[in-house]
Amino acid sequence: MRIGFLGLGAIGTPMARHLAKRDSLTVWNRTTERAADFARLHRARAAGTPREAAAGAEVIITCLPTSREVETLLDGPDGLEAGLQPGALLIDCTSGDPGTSRRIAQRLRGRVSFADAPVSGGVSGAEAGTLTVMVGCDAEIFERARPVLSAFGKRIEHLGPVGAGHAMKAINNALLAVNLIAVGEGLAALVKAGVSAGTAVEVLNGSSGRSFVTEGLVPERVLSGRWPQTFRLALLDKDVGIARAFAKETQVEAPLLDLAGRILAEARAELGEAADHAEIIRLIERRAGVEIRG
Ligand code: NDP
Repeated sequence: MRIGFLGLGAIGTPMARHLAKRDSLTVWNRTTERAADFARLHRARAAGTPREAAAGAEVIITCLPTSREVETLLDGPDGLEAGLQPGALLIDCTSGDPGTSRRIAQRLRGRVSFADAPVSGGVSGAEAGTLTVMVGCDAEIFERARPVLSAFGKRIEHLGPVGAGHAMKAINNALLAVNLIAVGEGLAALVKAGVSAGTAVEVLNGSSGRSFVTEGLVPERVLSGRWPQTFRLALLDKDVGIARAFAKETQVEAPLLDLAGRILAEARAELGEAADHAEIIRLIERRAGVEIRG
C-alpha cells in the first residue's frame, strides 16, 4: 500500500519504521533533515512538502503535537489537502481534540475519509509494535484503517464517530496525570518520614495502590534517577486540557481533572517545553526537599 506519514517525532518515528518494512512509504517532517535521515536509514522516500507526501498515497497518517498543527498542515498550495487524492484515507494519530477533528472530517467530506486514531503505549510500545489504538470514524472507514494501524498497533479499538478516539485518549492520559502527581506526593511524604523509596514502591505494587505509574514509570525513571525523555510534559498538559474540555462538553463536573490541569500547567511553565512528563515528580521532590531513589 502507498502510505504518506507526516510527523517524525518521538512516537511517530518508531511507528513509521514499522510501515517502512511492509508498505511503500513517503515521509515528511517539518525539520527536513529528520525525514532525510529516516529515508536514508529505512525503505522510504522523503517528501519536500506535505502536498508531496500525500500525492499518490492511498492512506496518509499524521502524528503531530496537537490537532491545531494537523489542521494548519492542510492549508496552502503546498499543504496536505492540495495533495490528497480523491478516495484517500487520512488517519490522524495525534492525541488531538474531538472538535477540531470533526471540523477536519467535515472539510474533507465527500472527497477524503478521515479517522482519528491516537495511540497509547509510549515509545517502547511503538518500537515493539504493540500500541493500543483508539479510533473514531464510521464503521466502514474503521475496516479500511484497521490493517494499516496493525503495523504498529496490537489492540485496535473502534470507539465511535470522529472525535471518539481523541476523547478516549484524553481521558486515559488525564488518569495518567492524576496518578503521576498523586504517586509523587505520596512517595515524597513517605521518604521524608524515613521509609525507603524502593520498599515503598514494592509495597504499593503488592497492594491496592499499584498502577502503571508505580509498576513501570517510577522504578524505571524515578528510583533509577535516569529520567529519559520520551513523552513531553507539555503534551500531557495538552491532553489534560482536552479531557477537561470534554468533561465540560458532556456536563460532567471534574474538579480533580481541573486541579491536575492547573498543577501541570504550572509545572510546564517551570520545567519548560522539553521536559519529560515524569519530571513532574522531580518538581514535587524539589519542593519537598527530598529525593525518591532506591
Ligand atoms: P514530539 O514533540 O516528539 O514530535 C512532534 C512532531 O510534530 C515532530 O515531528 C515535529 O517536527 C512536528 N511538529 C511540531 N510542530 C509542528 C508544526 N507546527 N507543523 C508541522 N510539524 C510540527 O511529539 P511526539 O512524537 O511525542 O508526539 C506526537 C503526538 O503523539 C502527540 O499528540 C502526543 O501527545 C502523542 N503521543 C506521544 C507519546 C509518546 O510517548 N511520545 C505516546 C502517545 C501519544 P520537528 O521535527 O520539526 O520538531
